[in-house]
Amino acid sequence: MATARTIVSKDVLEKLLDVEKLQYCYECGICTGSCPIVDLLGENYNPRGLLEKILLNPENVLTLDELWFCAWCYRCQRRCNQALALPEIFLTLRKIAAQHGNTQSIERALRKIAENIPLPLITTSVCFHPERAGLDKKNALDKIEQFYKEHLKKEKAKRAQEVFEEKVAIIGSGPAGLTVAYELSRRGFDVVVFEALPEAGGMLRKCIPDSRMSKQVLRKEIQLMEDFGVEIKTGMTIGRDLAFSNLWRDGYKAIFVGVGAHESQKLKIAGVELKGVVNALEFLWTVNSGEPIEVGKNVAVIGGGNVAMDVAQAALECGAKQATVLYRRSREEMPAIPWEVKEAEDKGIKIEFLVSPKKIVGEKGAVAAIECVRMDLGEPDESGRRKAIPITGSEFKQETDMVILAIGETPNLSFLPKEIELNENGTIWVDPITMETSLQGVFAGGDDVTGPATVIEAVQAGKHAAESIESYLKAKRMT
Ligand SMILES: Cc1cc2nc3c(=O)[nH]c(=O)nc-3n(C[C@H](O)[C@H](O)[C@H](O)COP(=O)(O)OP(=O)(O)OC[C@H]3O[C@@H](n4cnc5c(N)ncnc54)[C@H](O)[C@@H]3O)c2cc1C
Repeated sequence: MATARTIVSKDVLEKLLDVEKLQYCYECGICTGSCPIVDLLGENYNPRGLLEKILLNPENVLTLDELWFCAWCYRCQRRCNQALALPEIFLTLRKIAAQHGNTQSIERALRKIAENIPLPLITTSVCFHPERAGLDKKNALDKIEQFYKEHLKKEKAKRAQEVFEEKVAIIGSGPAGLTVAYELSRRGFDVVVFEALPEAGGMLRKCIPDSRMSKQVLRKEIQLMEDFGVEIKTGMTIGRDLAFSNLWRDGYKAIFVGVGAHESQKLKIAGVELKGVVNALEFLWTVNSGEPIEVGKNVAVIGGGNVAMDVAQAALECGAKQATVLYRRSREEMPAIPWEVKEAEDKGIKIEFLVSPKKIVGEKGAVAAIECVRMDLGEPDESGRRKAIPITGSEFKQETDMVILAIGETPNLSFLPKEIELNENGTIWVDPITMETSLQGVFAGGDDVTGPATVIEAVQAGKHAAESIESYLKAKRMT
């Protein structure tokens, strides 16, 4: 029989585990403490503990269900002083486990996900990514659906025993809002979700490519939620179709704000008003809506985050001959997560590092070229990343007929009452323990609090907020 060292070869282990970095791991616990899955699964998961088990006996790990729980948010790696690449380590072992047909542990993991993590169909599609380890995604989703339906049946029976009269309004049907809705509904509260778009799902519906988040799977998840008792009112923009303050008048006793970050940041250079300059989210929304879209032959994408990677790929899929991402720092500083960058490069996206746009050049009112300057890296700035400094005289011009701006998104919170305090960067301030805003009875979470992040982090925020809203309403009843 094969041993650990033959299944997981010594070479693979040494390369993976970066022995040099491990020497300086003082088990500070930041990786485990920052992991949203630890929060959602409790004692079932401990990433640093899993790494220890890999070091001790990699073969045993191949049969553990916990190998399948990393959700690719990279919080552990970003916060680790050594930047230990736990997600990549776990992925390599997942691939080996999948090759060796460890179906029982995979099935146990899928059951735990379905029973403990809200929105399991969504999170399996865009967070757990079974296909990256070589598993059949459809098969995994079918299993999740089966386990989830069994679980919902039990939850429904439990809920019938305790029903509360308080109604809760949820603004936004992204993963944060849907999680709050499900968690409160499961606890016996009446919830109504208000969604501005014609369909529920937030960014998952609006911008995430169909290849990653199939519309059918998303609709199934939402249908299961509605069948469970969650009411979703689409085409309802709070602040336009209904004033925020009217929610209190309509009898809601608590409000959750989960409106995400959908305002594209503006680039302050000449030429942004030219025909052919578009915002990334608008572009992706048009693609996801199935509407006809005009795409340039030679597209330049400005930015270095996940959205830049997705929009560049979408441009190619929509018929562009070439898509080039222009990013002002180096690969190491890129905010996009490494697998997104790799996926984009594998699909033929060119990335130009250390380049910053100075001006978009027009011809007859439309984009004709982009003028850029090469950059150097200086000392770290307040974000911790090395500051990009223009190199004098290094300006160059690149021909392009379309420029897509993907330089970051912020929330649009103009509809909120002024008692709700905002942070300097335009996100909502919340008490980190209760997730209550500065206005009593109003809670918030997801991208509108953290800035653009990931689905699993929005789910974690939603679960926390739901727990707090329950405590708040129960306490209020006693006063
Ligand atoms: C292109 C792209 C690709 C991504 N890919 C991934 C990925 O692969 N994996 C991953 O984990 N994360 C990914 N993300 C990030 C992820 O989508 C977000 O972190 C997540 O959706 C945030 O959830 P949320 O609930 O906070 O907000 P959102 O999902 O943004 O949902 C907010 C909802 O609120 C609605 N809304 C806004 N204002 C109002 C109002 N006034 N009244 C009523 N409704 C309102 C919006 O229409 C929206 O539906 C991606 C993001 C983008 C843009």
